[in-house]
Amino acid sequence: MKQKSLFNRIVIPYLVLIMLSLVITSVIASYAFRTFYINQLVDDLEAQANLILLLLPDTLSENSASFFQLDGNPQSVRVSVVLPGGKVIFDSEENPVKMDNHADRPEIIEALLGKRGHSTRYSHTLRHSMLYVAIPAVKNNKMAGVVRVSMTITAIDNNLKKLNIRVAFIGAIVLILAFLTSLVIAQKISSPLKLMQKGAEKFAEGKLGARVPESDTKELTALARALNKMAAELDDRMKTIERHRVENETILAAMVEGIIAIDPGEHIIMLNRSAGKLLNIDEKAAIGKTMQEALRNAQLLQFARQVLDSKETSIEDEITIYQEEEIILLANGAHLDWETETKPGAVIVLNDVTRVRQLEQTRRDFVINASHELKTPITAIKGFVETLLDGTAHKPEDIERILGIVARQADYLSAIASDLLSLARLESDDKTAWLAFEDKNVCDILEEVVGIYHPVAEKAGQKISLDCSGDIHATLNSILMEQAIMNLVENVIKHCPEGTQISIKGRIDSETVYISVQDNGQGISSENIPRIFERFYRIDKSRSRSLGGTGLGLAIVKHIALVHNGQINVESSRAKGSTFTISFPRKTDDS
Ligand code: ADP
Repeated sequence: MKQKSLFNRIVIPYLVLIMLSLVITSVIASYAFRTFYINQLVDDLEAQANLILLLLPDTLSENSASFFQLDGNPQSVRVSVVLPGGKVIFDSEENPVKMDNHADRPEIIEALLGKRGHSTRYSHTLRHSMLYVAIPAVKNNKMAGVVRVSMTITAIDNNLKKLNIRVAFIGAIVLILAFLTSLVIAQKISSPLKLMQKGAEKFAEGKLGARVPESDTKELTALARALNKMAAELDDRMKTIERHRVENETILAAMVEGIIAIDPGEHIIMLNRSAGKLLNIDEKAAIGKTMQEALRNAQLLQFARQVLDSKETSIEDEITIYQEEEIILLANGAHLDWETETKPGAVIVLNDVTRVRQLEQTRRDFVINASHELKTPITAIKGFVETLLDGTAHKPEDIERILGIVARQADYLSAIASDLLSLARLESDDKTAWLAFEDKNVCDILEEVVGIYHPVAEKAGQKISLDCSGDIHATLNSILMEQAIMNLVENVIKHCPEGTQISIKGRIDSETVYISVQDNGQGISSENIPRIFERFYRIDKSRSRSLGGTGLGLAIVKHIALVHNGQINVESSRAKGSTFTISFPRKTDDS
C-alpha cells in the first residue's frame, strides 16, 4: 500500500476542498450575478421597446423606413424593427439593406409567437456580446412586425471578469491562510506523533526505561500514556524474565554436572560451564552448532541420537572420553518437550564418575593383591604345619627349622595386617577421632629415629647421619611422622647394599618443612619410580618378601604426608642413589 505523510493526508485534501468550494461558490455567484443583471436589463430593454412600439405607425413596411429617423442614440441601445417575414426594415446601427433576414433569430421567433423573446449572443456585425430583447409589434390586433432592442453586455462581462479576479485574489489569500492553518494543525498532530515514534523505536531497541512525552491533544496524550504503560509493563516482564534467566544460568553454571540441551535437529541450545570443561570445548561457541560440529566424541553423539529417537523418556549410559587422560562420564538423557515440534529435543546430564570408577578399580585390585599377599604366607604355614602333623619331620633340628619358618611367616602376616590397618586408618574419612596434631620440633623426631636405627644400620654395614639444626617447630602427629621416616630408613637398610650412607636431613623454608632420607645405594629405575607408592608394589618381589617387606611401606609414607597436607617426592638414579623427601606446611589446617 502506498504510504502518505500526515501532511499529504491533511493539508492537500483540505486545500483541494477549499479550492473546490471557492471555485463552485464563485461560479455560482457570477452566474447568479450575471443572470440577475441580464434579467434587469431585459426588463429595461423591454420597457424601451414598448416605448418605441408606441411611436411606430400602425402599418409597417419597407417604406416605413423614413419614419425611423431617430436622432442620436442617447441610451446606447440598438433598435431594430423587423417585419414578420424576418426582413429588417430599420436598424439604428446598420444599414438594413445590408442586413440578412432575421427570421431565424431566437428572440425574433419568440416575439413573432406573441411573447417577449430575449437572447444573448455574439454579434458578428458589432463584434460584441449582445443582449437582444424583442417584443411583438401588434397594431390593430395584427402582427405588424417585431421591435428588437439590444445592448452590448461586454460591460457586464468585464465587470464579471473584474469580480472573478477579485474573488480569485481573495480565494488565493484564503488558500494561503488555509494552507498555513492546516500546516499548523498537521504539525500539531505530527510532531507529538514523531516523538511517539522515536519513543516506540527506543522501546523496540530495548530501552524500556524511556518515556513518550504527553502532548496537549487529548487523544494523543491517551496514546502516549498507553505506550508508556505498555513500556513499563514490558520492562517489568523483561526484568522478571532476565532475573529468571540469570538465576537459571547461575544455577546451571554452578552445577558440577555437565548439562547439554539439544533441539530435535541436534543443535545445541544450551551447554553449561561444567559440560564445556568436561568435553574440553568453549561452551559459548558451541551454542547453535550441531552436536557433530561441536563435539568430537562419537559415543556421546550416538547417545544423543539414541535419546532423541528413543520411545523411552530417559536413558542412561557410560561414555568414555579421552583428553589428557581418560574420563568416564555417566550420561543421563531425557526428552525435552517442545510445544511447537512433534519430535522432542533432549537434555543430557553428564556426571564425571572417573574417580568413582578408579576407586572401584583400586578397591578390586586391592582385594586381589591383599588376598594374594596373604595367601602366600598362609599356604607356607599350612604346608609346614601339615609336614609336622603327618610326622615326616622327626629330628628336633628339622622341627625347630620348620617352626622358625612358621613363626617368620606368622610375623609377616602380622606385619601385613598391621600395615593394612595403618593404611585403612590413614585413608578413613574421619581421622580427627584418632589423629592428634601437636607442636613438635622435627629435629627431636629425627634424632629419635637415628637413635633407633643406628645399631641396625651398623649391623647391616651402613652408616647413618643426621643434619638437622636449630628450631624446626611444626604442627604434626609425631607418631605418624616417626613411622614415615622409619619406613624410609628401613627401606634403605633392607634394599641397599653394605656400605651405603644414609643421610637424614630436616630443614624449613618459609612455611614448608622438608624431611629427606638420602642414600647412595643402587637407586630406583625411572619406570619403577611412579609405581613404588602403590600398595604391594615391590621391585624385587621375592627379595623384598624374604626381607619381611610387605610392599605397603611407601604407600603408608605417602598417606602420612597427605594427612599432613603435604607430599612425598623421590629423586633417584642408578649412579647416585635415592632421596625421598616429605614436605608439609609448618602449620596444618587440621591443627
Ligand atoms: P617394601 O615392603 O618392599 O619395602 P615399600 O613400599 O616400602 O615396600 O617399597 C616399595 C619398593 O621400593 C621396595 O620393594 C623397593 O624395591 C623399593 N625401594 C624402596 N626404597 C628404596 C631405596 N631406598 N632404594 C632402592 N629401592 C627402594
